[in-house]
Amino acid sequence: MRISVLGTGTVGRTVAGRAGDLGHEVAIGTRDPQATLARTDTDMMGNPPFGAWHADHPEIALLRFADAAARGELIVNATSGTNSLEVLALAGAENLKGKVLIDIANPLDFSAGFPPTLFVKDTDSLAEQIQRAFPEARVVKTLNTLNATVMVDPATLAGGDHSIFVSGDDAAAKATATDLLRGFGWRDIIDLGDLSTARGPEMLLPIWLRLMTALGTPAFNFKIVR
Ligand code: NAP
Repeated sequence: MRISVLGTGTVGRTVAGRAGDLGHEVAIGTRDPQATLARTDTDMMGNPPFGAWHADHPEIALLRFADAAARGELIVNATSGTNSLEVLALAGAENLKGKVLIDIANPLDFSAGFPPTLFVKDTDSLAEQIQRAFPEARVVKTLNTLNATVMVDPATLAGGDHSIFVSGDDAAAKATATDLLRGFGWRDIIDLGDLSTARGPEMLLPIWLRLMTALGTPAFNFKIVR
């Protein structure tokens, strides 16, 4: 499948790399490819600049958001939550129309430092904001409750015996997203229901962030025992 990942951060790189390894034709979207490739600084988490990663993944095309979205059959939103609506507007509603849009972004507001607060919660979610802004996209919320490495390779923890959630209004879109998750190695995929259920996984972030501090690692996940 042609998969376009919007976002050049850790999540975008990790999902794009894994999807490429699985045989998908992958592109990554960014605002300005030349500027993105010209960066030389490591990010806040010490990750190398995009160009260093891309040198190891030359088969993955780096395109402007709109060109990436136009090319993809399935789109992944891996941008900072505060900028997701703006990025998707750059991607273009016409390029998202009828396509599965997997939303991994979290509605985190870091403007007052760490820990961040949620800029939407309880009665709405970022996923629903995206769906309302792009009504012809088929939004599926998933993968936002995990560290990027675990997202694409659950077997790195407990042999893969832990849980992932999906939310969305379109059953066929959720089935497509679930196929991709199975390709990553996920087995316990819990369909929470319609897109309003994305409020739950987005509101897991406050506890997820405290767990990361308490455990001293982002390499953990929730296992739903029943
Ligand atoms: P990030 O740093 O949150 O986002 C990077 C992307 O956001 C880049 O593509 C960048 O565009 C775009 N961006 C930043 N500022 C922008 C602006 N002012 N206007 C337009 N676009 C802008 O990347 P990340 O850490 O990989 O996280 C991606 C998303 O996944 C976030 O919502 C995060 O909460 C969520 N998430 C992360 C993890 C994790 O392990 N890090 C786990 C679960 C969920 P350019 O390419 O043009 O620079």
